[in-house]
Amino acid sequence: MEIHLSNTLMNLPRRVDAELRQVLDLWRYKARLIIRSKISLYVAKKFYKSDKIERFSVVEIELRSLCNGTCPFCAAAVQYKSRPDKFMTDDMFRKIINDLSEADYSGRICFYINTEPLLDSRLADFVEYSRRSCPKAALHVMTNGIKLTNELGKRLLKNGLDLLEINNYSQDGLVRGNVKNFMSDVAPLYPGKVRLNMRSLNVVLNNRAGSAPNGRVLKKPLKAFCQRPWDKMMISVDGIVGLCEHDFYFSERMGKVSENRLEDIWNSTEFKKVREHLISGDRTVNSLCSSCDFHGYRRIANPKEAYAGVRSSGKRVLEKILILLDRI
Ligand code: SF4
Repeated sequence: MEIHLSNTLMNLPRRVDAELRQVLDLWRYKARLIIRSKISLYVAKKFYKSDKIERFSVVEIELRSLCNGTCPFCAAAVQYKSRPDKFMTDDMFRKIINDLSEADYSGRICFYINTEPLLDSRLADFVEYSRRSCPKAALHVMTNGIKLTNELGKRLLKNGLDLLEINNYSQDGLVRGNVKNFMSDVAPLYPGKVRLNMRSLNVVLNNRAGSAPNGRVLKKPLKAFCQRPWDKMMISVDGIVGLCEHDFYFSERMGKVSENRLEDIWNSTEFKKVREHLISGDRTVNSLCSSCDFHGYRRIANPKEAYAGVRSSGKRVLEKILILLDRI
């Protein structure tokens, strides 16, 4: 006798498996939030003070407000059309670099925030100007590689770029043809200056303060620290300093570079207020931190050490332990 199982019955094990996975993922996510929040508060207590703010160690500059990628976790992805296409003016860019030059800045300068830096044809010239003006700074470009050519990559590196980081996003784990060429023809000529990261287009990252289209929504604010306002300064195409890289629309304005020096914005009452709240794990200070599920730390070095690029060996060991715990 022939038995015909309906499609519904045939697909049952697969559906149960998928649903079970979803439930387990959710529980894992919740458990990680609890563990990470506790670690972040420990890091805050041990290594941070709200009243002693060293200079930022990273400044990220948005040259153009457009991206050509399709990453589902990022509001800048081309399909969402979330912000108008704008360029930072040459004068604004030079003002920022001149501020850093006057301060003898030796941290990192990144020519991107959430958008794609290779979409700006001035990039190689900007790298060259930054190299001349800030000889001690580390210059960093992170790109999705779509517009990368051997010629452009070579020009950036010749002009003084310290790191060209390529995030190759794909569904199938394949490297783009142009990126492959670049990695075989140009990267070996610049040892240590090119990094290729293979990334999946299906990835779900943190919710980016609520702006990630595929991110989870928090029911209530985390009780967690966040290191970002001690560490990084984010500047939009219009010269607005936002709260952090998850402030996608630059809605929490810390200052304007056309009106103030970077150092003054970094020590503004707006930044101080956020730090005072975050150091005690209070994320209700603004609507972005309230809805953000970023756990709050990337490394445990305090800002002074990060700025000087050094860390004690004790802290390096502790950092490794925390990173391991974080992977649970
Ligand atoms: S908690 Fe989130 S939104 Fe607030 S500063 Fe940190 S990363 Fe930014």
